[in-house]
Amino acid sequence: MLSLWRAIRRLGRAAEPAPAPPVPAGPAVAAVLAGSVQVRHVDAGSCNGCELEIGAAFGPVYDAERYGARLVASPRHADALVVTGAVTRNMVEPLRRTYEAVGEPKVVVAVGDCARNCGVFAEAYGVVGAVADVVPVDLEVVGCPPRPETIVAALRLCTGR
Ligand code: SF4
Repeated sequence: MLSLWRAIRRLGRAAEPAPAPPVPAGPAVAAVLAGSVQVRHVDAGSCNGCELEIGAAFGPVYDAERYGARLVASPRHADALVVTGAVTRNMVEPLRRTYEAVGEPKVVVAVGDCARNCGVFAEAYGVVGAVADVVPVDLEVVGCPPRPETIVAALRLCTGR
């Protein structure tokens, strides 16, 4: 245990260095959210690849919390939805209800190509459409799956930090 503590002390902070701040042309909602965004994640039909990258974005290496983004357990505590996957039939109503439960002002981030345009699941029998076909989307994160730094960059556009 002592050797582990010594190794932690020797290594210090292991997070990636903070990149340049995001371009100021972020969505208008960033100004309203004022530096902090509480994020509720919704898996609308993902293969879980995007979830792994979201997990990495909030892990110690990419550490999205440095920029004021935090995952929360309830949409009633959130001001942003991060939605992954093409929207499946069974998730249309839960996604709508989750969106309604988030207070104003709110922002919706569609993470991954499936969320943007159904990706590899386009025209699958259980798929209703992209996230924007069900709820209004403010930001899209490109990739299958998107890299954690891309997800962090999108969240920084929400927090403005
Ligand atoms: S974008 Fe790629 S990784 Fe993400 S849910 Fe779709 S298939 Fe999976």
